[in-house]
Amino acid sequence: MPLLKKVEKIWVDGKLIAWDDAQEHVLAHSLHYGLGAFEGIRAYQLADGKTAVFRLREHIDRLYDSCHIATIEIPYAREKLVQACLEVVRVNKLQAAYLRPLVFLGYGALGVGSLESPTRTVVAAYEWGAYLGEEGLRRGIRCKVSGFRRAQNDAFFSKGKITGQYVMSVLANRDAVKNGFDEAILLDGQGLVCEGSGENIFMVKDGAIRTPPTSAAILAGITRATVLQLARELGVEVREQSFTVDEMWTADELFMTGTAAEVTPVREVDGRRIGSGEPGPVTRRLQDRFFAAVKGNDPGHADWLTPV
Ligand code: PMP
Repeated sequence: MPLLKKVEKIWVDGKLIAWDDAQEHVLAHSLHYGLGAFEGIRAYQLADGKTAVFRLREHIDRLYDSCHIATIEIPYAREKLVQACLEVVRVNKLQAAYLRPLVFLGYGALGVGSLESPTRTVVAAYEWGAYLGEEGLRRGIRCKVSGFRRAQNDAFFSKGKITGQYVMSVLANRDAVKNGFDEAILLDGQGLVCEGSGENIFMVKDGAIRTPPTSAAILAGITRATVLQLARELGVEVREQSFTVDEMWTADELFMTGTAAEVTPVREVDGRRIGSGEPGPVTRRLQDRFFAAVKGNDPGHADWLTPV
């Protein structure tokens, strides 16, 4: 995984400041206990050369939901953060970017439940290519079912992108990559398939697609919702229903979705070839529709794009 590619400015607490000045004290509350919330958003260069952010409003709304779950009040109106996202792309002259809004508790008090630490709000933007690799997008990736479990909904707030909850994702992804795989797939306590460390998961069987419902311990991915809508528009049968590991191994096709991962085919899980071992026709069609939408080549979904 390449290191961050530095740009000029980051938006911090309402101001654009130099990248190198965006520092935090080592005794910041969130660094110790993981209460914070973040987003991952992409801006794409469109076919006409302009730049637009994909589903920006939905991502900002989810950031507010995550903070609501985490009892953190964002000290800005939504519109201000929407503008901050556009501003960091613009000021850094990025044609395509990954955006990382983060709300966390800064330096002040360090009691576990202390209410005195200041709420800090950050929006960064930088260049970031295909998360699971260009080759992964084209040929499909190899995954491993993780030994780490997604906690159930009574012990984990899966609808929030809450910083501390990413520990299991980090461990599962590191373990998969260390063992020569591209990504981990996490199950819940009952052994049902949940999602990747940072992606939702879909299987295709007999022409119909299936993905765990949002009542499962998954993040309600914005790319997931996008792909479900595109699939319905293509007349593909869609079922939001959990599946088992052996159902996944015997799927005709498997793919993952996420802002970072986009629509990435999975060609192998636990050493078992999925379908033909190559991205299948349903995955390909959805991938094509997805890239058409994000790059402004789908007039029916122009409302998903916010010009920078
Ligand atoms: N699941 C998890 C655990 C994630 O971190 C992400 C990335 N945000 C996703 C799913 C995909 O969500 P989205 O499509 O909104 O990026």
